[in-house]
Amino acid sequence: MSTESYREDLEQLMQLQQLDSHVYEMARLERELPKALDVFRNDLQQAEDALQSFEAKIAEQEAEVRRLEREVKLEEERIQKSNEKLMAVKTNEEYHAALKEIERAKATNKQCEDRILEIMEAVEQLQAEKTTYAEAVTTKAKTLKEKSHEVGVKCTEAKNAQVGLEDKRKNFIVRIQDAGLLKTYETLRKKMPQAIVQIYSEFCECCQMAIPPKLFYQVQSMKSVNQCPNCLRILYWHPEAEKSAQTAAEKK
Ligand SMILES: [Zn+2]
Repeated sequence: MSTESYREDLEQLMQLQQLDSHVYEMARLERELPKALDVFRNDLQQAEDALQSFEAKIAEQEAEVRRLEREVKLEEERIQKSNEKLMAVKTNEEYHAALKEIERAKATNKQCEDRILEIMEAVEQLQAEKTTYAEAVTTKAKTLKEKSHEVGVKCTEAKNAQVGLEDKRKNFIVRIQDAGLLKTYETLRKKMPQAIVQIYSEFCECCQMAIPPKLFYQVQSMKSVNQCPNCLRILYWHPEAEKSAQTAAEKK
């Protein structure tokens, strides 16, 4: 293979790598973006739990009211019976006993009714407070819905971008003539996002290993695949890139 066409292959491969990093980034976004929703999901869950326990508290109080109301009803029945007894009493003792029963039942009812009023007032206050909890749930549900939509749009964009890039990729691949070079690249790419690296000042751009002179010469002659002895990445060298890197280093 001529140096010129091999150089072209390497240049194509460098561009392919740029494309692949883009695909990689889009795939990462598509994978990672939905995770950002967890915060909002947890937020909503917490608000829902708070509302639920608050509602349970109200239900408990309301159940107590119903229990007290049943008790009042029972006592009223007792009063009724005692009143009937009162009509039929024959002795003074029986009369006083019936009166006593009525008084006791009335006192119990008074206590129950006072307690019912107390609880109902408390429930009214709790119901008002409940609005705050319910509003928090509504707001957080709305936020989650909006964020889910945003993430959905971004994920679709990332997915579509990947499809577009994959198409572009096919065009790049056919332009690379050295099948061995492409195969090495594809194998490495599965293990490392950056499979082809430049040599700057005789060092591997990625792992910073000093490239032995003989290997450096081979890379410069551009005739076959050369890999970094340390990180195994495909090595690429370009005099212009080297020059601009040196200028940048001098400016620092
Ligand atoms: Zn290396």
